[in-house]
Amino acid sequence: VREVGDPVDETELAIEGALRPGSLAEFVGQQKVRGQLQLLLDAARIQQRPADHILLSGPPGLGKTTLAMIVAHESNRPLRLSSGPAIQHAGDLAALLSSLTPGEVLFIDEVHRMARSAEEMLYLAMEDFRIDIMVGKGAGATSIPLDLAPFTLVGATTRSGMLPNPLRDRFGFTAHLEYYEPEELERVIERSAAMLGVAVPPGPRAEIARRSRGTPRIANRLLRRVRDYSIVHGNGRAADAAIVDAALDLYDVDAIGLDRLDRAVLDALVRRFRGGPVGLGTLSVAVGEESDTIESVVEPYLVRIGFIGRTPRGRIAMPEAYAHLGVASPESVLG
Ligand code: ATP
Repeated sequence: VREVGDPVDETELAIEGALRPGSLAEFVGQQKVRGQLQLLLDAARIQQRPADHILLSGPPGLGKTTLAMIVAHESNRPLRLSSGPAIQHAGDLAALLSSLTPGEVLFIDEVHRMARSAEEMLYLAMEDFRIDIMVGKGAGATSIPLDLAPFTLVGATTRSGMLPNPLRDRFGFTAHLEYYEPEELERVIERSAAMLGVAVPPGPRAEIARRSRGTPRIANRLLRRVRDYSIVHGNGRAADAAIVDAALDLYDVDAIGLDRLDRAVLDALVRRFRGGPVGLGTLSVAVGEESDTIESVVEPYLVRIGFIGRTPRGRIAMPEAYAHLGVASPESVLG
């Protein structure tokens, strides 16, 4: 609902899929994580066994789903996609797990949002490739053990703090994805621009990268809006600085890549709550957005660029935030 240029139809989703890198070598940035994953996959391949379970955490759009697809592709195994909200009962998970073929890669997005009962079933499944299925109720209830085919679980979460420890401990490898540097996003844009058939010179490319909130998904979306602009107002095959600026301005992406919701949060924090501290719940009510979105999407980037600070008493605005909004900060007033 919130992100700039959210996919609006199947075509947009199809394009997003087509722009996904298919191998670790094509995957831009996250060098450390790539090296670690490569070793994990190579060892599994040499021993001809499924790779250890993998947990990927980090804000949306940094490449968790893409990495899960790459894990399956590089280990030459099929991939099954599911998500925490789709697993509302232990039975949902039992059906999923028991239908996996040997060595299959199971991707569970938003793994922190699975039902509690399913979580407990998953512990045993991850450790021993076995589940206990409860049949009957009350005194007559019995559990029937069921062996599973060995599989690799790839879990993704925007909130690794929300995962219970027993679940987190059962992942053999945990990676936290960081926001991308502008130079890395430039490479993402260069690759995508070539695939979309639109020429973007280095200067305007750097401009899109700077305004992409450190996020490849946003970089790709902004590039598609730039291409749209070129199709309508230019020749559709190239985008210069003027086209890039006009397109990004049209979609309310400001000079440092903040969108309307980012600015609404900053504005509430600075003006309405006079710089804080203010609790997350209060802040989300003030901007009319779910606190989960504020916490997992908006806040991490604003913290990362030094606009928001987190204190035990709540969120506070940093001097950089005042400067960006053009409001005098208390510090500057004091002198
Ligand atoms: P979510 O959790 O919201 O699903 P995600 O972290 O799984 O997000 P992906 O769907 O994997 O993100 O990536 C979003 C888009 O960004 C994809 O279309 C992919 O093409 C692109 N992308 C992500 N990471 C990279 C990367 N390292 N190199 C090139 N393209 C990338």
